[in-house]
Amino acid sequence: MREALLYDKLDGGRVRCNLCAHRCLIAEGNKGVCLVRENRGGRLYTLVYGIPLSQAVDPIEKKPLFHFYPGSTAFSIATVGCNFRCAFCQNADISQMPRDRGKIAGYQASPEEVVQAAKRHGCRSIAYTYTEPTIFFEYSYEIARLAHEAGIASVYVTNGYMTPEMLELFQGVTNGHEPWLHGANVDLKAFQDETYRKVCGARLQPVLDSLIKMKELGIWVEVTTLVVPGMNDSEAELRDIAGFIGAELGPETPWHVSRFHPDYMMRDRGPTSATTLRQAYELGRAAGLHYVYVGNLPGAGLEDTTCPACGKKVIERWGFQVMEYRIRDGACSSCGALIDGVGM
Ligand code: SF4
Repeated sequence: MREALLYDKLDGGRVRCNLCAHRCLIAEGNKGVCLVRENRGGRLYTLVYGIPLSQAVDPIEKKPLFHFYPGSTAFSIATVGCNFRCAFCQNADISQMPRDRGKIAGYQASPEEVVQAAKRHGCRSIAYTYTEPTIFFEYSYEIARLAHEAGIASVYVTNGYMTPEMLELFQGVTNGHEPWLHGANVDLKAFQDETYRKVCGARLQPVLDSLIKMKELGIWVEVTTLVVPGMNDSEAELRDIAGFIGAELGPETPWHVSRFHPDYMMRDRGPTSATTLRQAYELGRAAGLHYVYVGNLPGAGLEDTTCPACGKKVIERWGFQVMEYRIRDGACSSCGALIDGVGM
């Protein structure tokens, strides 16, 4: 057990956790919504520091991050737990383990060991992923510090429900260190607050606020929307999401629209149709977004990157693999226009 960061001690032994937008008020002996942070004796502790359950070496494209050191590998790590309870979760066996099975499982791995493993595998980055990394912030923060010293980048794959204080701490605004978080793929699951409340047990606005804050702090951001039939697949809602990305985050922000498959507690509908995904792609392009990608629809040819200036393909992909790469020194090899991203 490790004492948590970002919490306030209150009267009567209660604490207020300021790590995510739930800002749980936790009485002595109780846990927060994520069930991996506990008030013991008037102090808040994280129960998952140094005990990951999943580790793997993944292509960075699997996160998905298509404009962050393309073709490199990310050492991917997760503990159990989540601050959301999405009915369509595709990793519910680990993200909802504390809620559904009442346990916290994992093995010991110190931050030093994680960074050593990333180095051993030649990974360009460490990805905090699979479950919600915000809930294991203290662990990821220490890994990211050591990784930064070793020249390895850090990326979050996140629901974007962290507080601005957390992002400011991560980026050194609060205590003067260099930024330790370099990229993020953020789920924008819907553009209706009601959907967030009903399906995820959360709210929309904090996610929008985090996206804007990340851009302000210089974090490379890509957005993913899992297009779920009957939940967020109306033309109006997809247009709203694309419009928000273009206007608030900038047209250089990649948008990944991804195919839903029935999972966990949402098995009452089939997978997203190819027609709907193509429509989302077209809406994104019509909104002026330079980079729109369709995920989980192999063979559709909508995973390639085209140059926003000349329209030539600069990265051809098959699934998570980069097949052709026509970018030199960050620029299109045909016309010389800059291609947005990090390590392009
Ligand atoms: S991380 Fe979020 S859900 Fe967990 S205790 Fe803190 S405020 Fe609550």
